[in-house]
Amino acid sequence: MENRLTMYNSLTKKEELFVPNEDGKVGMYTCGPTVYHYAHIGNLRSYIMEDLLEKTLRYLHYDVKRVMNITDVGHLSSDADTGEDKMLKGARREHKTVMEIAQFYTDAFFEDCRKLNIKRPDVVEPATNCIDEFIHMITVLLEKGYAYEMGGNIYFDTSKLQNYYVFSGQSDMELLVGVRDDVEEDANKKNKSDFVLWFTKSKFEDQELKWESPWGLGYPGWHIECSCISMKHLGEFMDIHCGGVDNIFPHHTNEIAQSESYLGHKWCNYWFHVHHLNDKTGKMSKSKGDFLTVSLLESKGYNPLAYRLFCLQSHYRKPLEFSYENLDNVTSAYNKLIKRIGDLSEEGEIEQEKFDAYRKQFEDALCSDLNSSMALTVLYEMLKADMNDRTKRELAKSFDEVLSLDLLTAQTAGEVQHSEIDAELESYVLAKIEERAAAKKAKDFATADAIRSELLERGIVLEDTREGVKWKKA
Ligand code: AMP
Ligand code: ZN
Repeated sequence: MENRLTMYNSLTKKEELFVPNEDGKVGMYTCGPTVYHYAHIGNLRSYIMEDLLEKTLRYLHYDVKRVMNITDVGHLSSDADTGEDKMLKGARREHKTVMEIAQFYTDAFFEDCRKLNIKRPDVVEPATNCIDEFIHMITVLLEKGYAYEMGGNIYFDTSKLQNYYVFSGQSDMELLVGVRDDVEEDANKKNKSDFVLWFTKSKFEDQELKWESPWGLGYPGWHIECSCISMKHLGEFMDIHCGGVDNIFPHHTNEIAQSESYLGHKWCNYWFHVHHLNDKTGKMSKSKGDFLTVSLLESKGYNPLAYRLFCLQSHYRKPLEFSYENLDNVTSAYNKLIKRIGDLSEEGEIEQEKFDAYRKQFEDALCSDLNSSMALTVLYEMLKADMNDRTKRELAKSFDEVLSLDLLTAQTAGEVQHSEIDAELESYVLAKIEERAAAKKAKDFATADAIRSELLERGIVLEDTREGVKWKKA
């Protein structure tokens, strides 16, 4: 089949024509969530844009197989091989076992995906399912001389590679490693950039999940899981590997090091990285305490699909800043769009030539490094064009296979949602007013002021009157 999609490849740092290993077929791998907490809307930006890539490939008639891991073991609180285990941290916080935490947050993740119309990958594999595969790969790496045992752990020896820093210049990366290692140094490592493949009881004694291995009772490092899980389901040659930009180093760099050393040949051709969602204070992260989730947006009356539209309006390779003001604007644009499409009649014959021309324009936008904002412009242009309603409806339906904004089905829900939004807004504001009153009573004026500012950011003004606190939309 004809390959038309060009995409930016982080490995070559160029926009390239996408050509899969096998004609018409795509093997795609996504680094899944670390399930020790809810996903924040930054994580979900990455998954929305990866979903867009998958659906674009399907729209272009590729036969796609997509695999995702679930990180339920081995991801430490720093990206280096030091620090506390993230899963264990979650379990302690909630007085649950690691497996209970993993199950709860895996379900919560897929529930968020469902609300955002993110398709579930064809294969979803938790890391704890694949311990034998990890042990096998580590054994081969030891046999081939790419790994060594030190202080009870197995490390990958990065000095065995001609070019370990595949994504970037060595000097940039060493700087980065330097910064990390200034904080916590692992004396067992032969080289600064070496990383752990397997931990044994000699380290992190309190780790809850441990397995027998040729090197003692222990557990795998984080990076090994993605190499093994992707090979298990997609074989030795992969087309596209996805993740957020923070995964480039060390995670994806280490995945390539160990996979290609194990295989003895090139492993994955295209690397797709989504830039971060930031808030005013910088990158959104799970460890920052209060973070933004889909449920929080819903509790404030937002439709999760408005957030999806917010993401689609920007290119995946640009950082994106979140604010409620922006989301309010997108919500109003979304409601108008749904109404506009809902008003289209179903009468008449499809004007095939026009249909084909707009579909081509839409595909061309996506084929240009997944230009989703351009694809949305094609949708708006199409709705204004000289064409009958039926053709417009069918085009909107077709585009929605990729955009997944419920462009046709949200039609009536749009009306209902409006009153729902008002009701939810009201209960949210009332809860905040109560919270503020409690803070004032406790003489915690900083919190009381913070609540007032938070409401103001959402366009809600509070007035302290003799009859009590009143509120209105600014
Ligand atoms: P984690 O659950 O921490 O392993 O992250 C899941 C995915 O979200 C990974 O692909 C990360 O690269 C990505 N990610 C993390 N923070 C952000 C952010 N602020 N914006 C976009 N993607 C992010
Ligand atoms: Zn990964």
